[in-house]
Amino acid sequence: MKNLSSKEKNEKFFLTDPIYRISGITIQYYYTCHRELWFHLHYFDPIEEHHHLSIGRIIHEQSYKKMSKRTINIGTSVVDIITKQKSTIIISEIKKSSKFLEPSKKQLLYYLLLLKRQGIKAQGILRIPKEKKNYRLKLTPDVEKELVNTEQEILRIAKFPRPPPIVTRPYCKSCAYLEICEA
Ligand code: SF4
Repeated sequence: MKNLSSKEKNEKFFLTDPIYRISGITIQYYYTCHRELWFHLHYFDPIEEHHHLSIGRIIHEQSYKKMSKRTINIGTSVVDIITKQKSTIIISEIKKSSKFLEPSKKQLLYYLLLLKRQGIKAQGILRIPKEKKNYRLKLTPDVEKELVNTEQEILRIAKFPRPPPIVTRPYCKSCAYLEICEA
């Protein structure tokens, strides 16, 4: 496979409308690790069979079996479950643990923002079945403003010719990019 130059990678990134290129997972990476974010933005895909990603998929498949699980795409984002409670649209994100609680909340709130931009009002539930925890989330003006700023920050980081420096964190050992990160 041809190695793209930094200039080509940046051009490739900006070929797509940034609103659609930035996904929920991009937002999660922004709030977790900017180096991880950069790898993701520059098309370094996590190893498919990575242990922790596989566990996440199994939990998704095995949880809430009685619930009608309809998955939808919003741009490049995949929403785990969409349901309706009375007249309210509820979108749910399932996580295997609360280890990345705040980044996961921001990911789900970003889905609410993407839907709002399409004229759809919705609420979110972050579900952590293994810990029997649910967090109900609504998009507030302050969060919306923060996420719009985050989009701009993500575009700024995308232009970096090289990944941001390593900041070693406890969760590096379980990071899907560990093999290429050198942390
Ligand atoms: S291994 Fe650690 S520093 Fe490297 S990308 Fe993952 S979280 Fe970031």
